[in-house]
Amino acid sequence: MKQIPQHIINEIKELLSLSKNIVIITHYDSDGDAIGSALGLYIFLKKKHHKVNIVAPNNYPEFLQWLPENNKILIFSEHKKEVVKLIAQAEIIFNIDYNELSRVKDIEPFIRAANVKNILIDHHPDPEPYADYIISDTSVSSTAELVFEFINLLGAQHLLDKSIAECLFTGIMTDTGAFSFNSSLPGTYQIVAELLSLGIDKDKIYSNIYDNFSEHRMKFLGYCLNEKMVVIPEYNTAFISLTKEELKKYKFTPGDSEGFVNFPLSVKGIVFSAIFIEKGDLTKISFRSKGNFAVNKFARKYFEGGGHKNAAGGQAKLSLDETLKKFVRLLPEYAKELTIDN
Ligand code: 5GP
Ligand code: MN
Repeated sequence: MKQIPQHIINEIKELLSLSKNIVIITHYDSDGDAIGSALGLYIFLKKKHHKVNIVAPNNYPEFLQWLPENNKILIFSEHKKEVVKLIAQAEIIFNIDYNELSRVKDIEPFIRAANVKNILIDHHPDPEPYADYIISDTSVSSTAELVFEFINLLGAQHLLDKSIAECLFTGIMTDTGAFSFNSSLPGTYQIVAELLSLGIDKDKIYSNIYDNFSEHRMKFLGYCLNEKMVVIPEYNTAFISLTKEELKKYKFTPGDSEGFVNFPLSVKGIVFSAIFIEKGDLTKISFRSKGNFAVNKFARKYFEGGGHKNAAGGQAKLSLDETLKKFVRLLPEYAKELTIDN
């Protein structure tokens, strides 16, 4: 991992040397890395006797609701007044798993207005320079890896425990699709080895995350693949789209479509996959790719989004139909990058 300058570590150490009011914030539509990293950091900071709160902008998927201390997470959309007060009173805000403040949606103005030290820990490209301390490295698998390193750099490895390890392992596992992408550096496995030695049950964590489909969610996945997956062989691309009516019919709740965008990549030859979901008056999109096609650049250029090279998201203020037409129209421009060998 990239070296964090010693003076930054020293200043943060100094900052954390006395008990502080701390708020940990994750991004909208938090995933396993956001929640795992935030909870791991939360448990660590509590052990250091800080007064800590965690805030997520909106509700997070059910498959994460077994994580240690997850019941302490305050959902901004449900506890607005309390969260606004906590942010105003905070001395330190940890910004976890996002590179720009717009990712926290309606919490953004409250963070900007707060008289705090902002610490950002994240692995997305080009972090917005609003934070006082930026711990950012795009080469690591996950923010959870950076939280692990952060604790070590503070010289506090003795405070690592099984609960923290469960949270951080969840972050690493979910952000690498259970070690199938973004996970080719030895450092990731060195950290995993240390987490295992803290006594985590890796198979149980895997099962908690991935083997927890309700019957209707499994049938919903079947519907998406059987009825809604469109394959465009000439561009090695496949996509799924879902209308509001379909979401209603399948009693869709946030998180139900989590990971669905990965399935088309299991079709031989497919290197680019997308899922389009109709939401209010906009269309929310997830992109995934294999190899060199950079979906974050594509998302940023055409769909007001961003993310990682092989996993990104965005949106369009267009109807679902118009969004799909726009998407399909863009593919020929990328014909070269969408070849199998690329
Ligand atoms: P997902 O498709 O799982 O929602 O997101 C994949 C990746 O893209 C995540 O790393 C996430 O941070 C990023 N991402 C998703 N939606 C957006 C968005 O609207 N804007 C930006 N900048 N990044 C996004
Ligand atoms: Mn992440």
